[in-house]
Amino acid sequence: MKVGIYPGSFDPITLGHLDIIIRASKLMDHLVIGVLNNISKKTIFTEDERVRFIERVLKEYNLDSRIKVEAFQGLLVDFAKAKNASFIVRGLRAITDFDYELQLAQTNHKIMPDIDTIFFTTRLEYSYLSSSTVREIASFGGDIKQFVPECIVQSVYDKFKAIGSV
Ligand code: ADP
Repeated sequence: MKVGIYPGSFDPITLGHLDIIIRASKLMDHLVIGVLNNISKKTIFTEDERVRFIERVLKEYNLDSRIKVEAFQGLLVDFAKAKNASFIVRGLRAITDFDYELQLAQTNHKIMPDIDTIFFTTRLEYSYLSSSTVREIASFGGDIKQFVPECIVQSVYDKFKAIGSV
């Protein structure tokens, strides 16, 4: 069985992430979306919120039978090993992603030669899109409907209201 891991912060999940999830899942029997809980990388949304948003999106798009979401801490290769994964999935938006992603993939391969990283290039319409752009726009009450799945739009606004930034 071909198992892949798609790791990231997903703070929050965007349509760019969703596009990668759908395309990657077609190549694998099972895809695990790994929501990274990294104490040195502060996120706006809690681990639980980030996981629940993705679960809601998977359900909405009927993807929840072959794709699961799990939070993880620590080394990605350890998480991948625990899940019996053969692949790590990452997305590439621009040349600026490449340097970092190449280093990450090569380091992971060195630590765990059995696991390969597969890159998906972003679709043109999402090449500019990142979670940080979404956070920025939402924090000013701007329109995020074309950036994140419809079913999480209100929750994203609610969060910024709750933290007092809108
Ligand atoms: P990280 O903190 O690991 O960069 P992100 O949640 O920002 O986590 O991204 C997870 C992965 O998804 C990364 O490989 C990133 O390059 C990719 N990604 C993010 N946004 C897009 C997008 N708009 N199109 C394609 N890939 C994307």
